[in-house]
Amino acid sequence: MLTQSNYWHTTTHMPGEENTITPLPEKVDVAVIGGGYTGLSAARTLAKSGAKVVVLEAETIGWGASSRNGGMTLTGLKVSMQTVIKKYGRDIARRLFQCSLDSVDMVEQIVQEENIDCGFARYGHLLTASKPDHYDGFKNEVDFMAKEFNHAVRLVTQNELRSEIGSNVYYGALVDEVSGGLNPAQYVTGLAHAAEKAGVVLHARARVNSLERRGTRFFLQTERGPLTAESVLVGTSGYTGNATKRLQRKIIPIGSFIIATERLSEELAYELSPRNRMIFGGRAAFFPENKNTIARSAEILRREMIEVYPQLKNVQVEYVWGGTLDFTFDMMTHVGESDGVYYSLGYAGHGVAMATYLGKTVAEAMLAGNIKEHPFASFDFPGAPLGLYNGFPWFLPFAGAWHKFLDWIE
Ligand SMILES: Cc1cc2nc3c(=O)[nH]c(=O)nc-3n(C[C@H](O)[C@H](O)[C@H](O)COP(=O)(O)OP(=O)(O)OC[C@H]3O[C@@H](n4cnc5c(N)ncnc54)[C@H](O)[C@@H]3O)c2cc1C
Repeated sequence: MLTQSNYWHTTTHMPGEENTITPLPEKVDVAVIGGGYTGLSAARTLAKSGAKVVVLEAETIGWGASSRNGGMTLTGLKVSMQTVIKKYGRDIARRLFQCSLDSVDMVEQIVQEENIDCGFARYGHLLTASKPDHYDGFKNEVDFMAKEFNHAVRLVTQNELRSEIGSNVYYGALVDEVSGGLNPAQYVTGLAHAAEKAGVVLHARARVNSLERRGTRFFLQTERGPLTAESVLVGTSGYTGNATKRLQRKIIPIGSFIIATERLSEELAYELSPRNRMIFGGRAAFFPENKNTIARSAEILRREMIEVYPQLKNVQVEYVWGGTLDFTFDMMTHVGESDGVYYSLGYAGHGVAMATYLGKTVAEAMLAGNIKEHPFASFDFPGAPLGLYNGFPWFLPFAGAWHKFLDWIE
């Protein structure tokens, strides 16, 4: 039977309500807002340096995208590296791409160091060609990545792909074998325990309602009382709200959805390559998750899944859930400091490895006082054209229609 719930949550005990009983301290060195990969990874690093650190999470730890995602631990950025070179030049592009490789290494290292049982492995990731000319583009990409980034990606022909993933619909693929995969809920749970082990105090149900700078200090009003902090780091991703209005205006929250089937037979799992269930996701609706967008997405995703894998026609979909992505107006991830408040935002669905990495490296930059030198701070963080955006994405229905139109004419 189909339920609107997150399959990953059935595989671990998420850090939960027990956090609510810890009273908030009056003063801390660093208040981290948001209890996902960004916040937890940053908090762990800051606490290891001896700082007194709290994580303030509006819901429960790991509640956001960090326990809802597809677990793909990816190299590269949301934007193609060709576009990054065109916009920012070779030097910046090379630094950013290197960060993406380091981010996958970092996840692997943290998983090993902290003994996190989340099934991390370097499975690689595939980009599939849904049209013949996509495959031609992949051929250029192999040479481009080798020449510009000394990075090997490999073509997979249509026939090879069929025997690899059991689907006939694609015209081939590009594989990057450096990428990995993991169970996101188990990973965020492990990261939370690792942060606690380093001395971080995690506070669930502690939504920050307002944040005010007075001199060099910050005064935070949370739903569990006030707090003073020497520094603040924001890692609120697609859930960025009113308390950090300036940042909210630069983030477009977009829904992303996943279905999980019942357990597959051994033969089917072998033919299609998943472990035991097919996890199938996409941006089936533009608006963030609610009962309606989730229900609609379940239908759309099931239909798309059967187009790709007709073998799953009689397999039940048991779980459907959604989460919110944080797009920026230039589709890039941004880190920096705004009015003394540090942030790392804008992963746009590419944040499992990157949020872990940027959480840690932004924390290091806070300690060293050199955030401006961070590669992801070396370009502007744009707001909406003409300032026509206050955090409510009124233009999404039009954007949705526009993209459907583009898909149709492409
Ligand atoms: C369905 C889905 C599939 C995805 N698949 C992939 C994938 O396969 N690979 C990949 O690389 N990325 C993927 N992503 C993206 C990835 O999950 C995110 O980029 C990453 O988890 C972001 O981590 P974060 O810590 O920055 O944010 P989140 O995990 O979203 O955490 C932000 C937290 O901030 C809290 N918060 C917000 N406002 C406040 C406040 N005022 N006070 C206190 N707390 C607050 C929220 O409650 C939330 O828990 C996917 C995302 C979704 C939704």
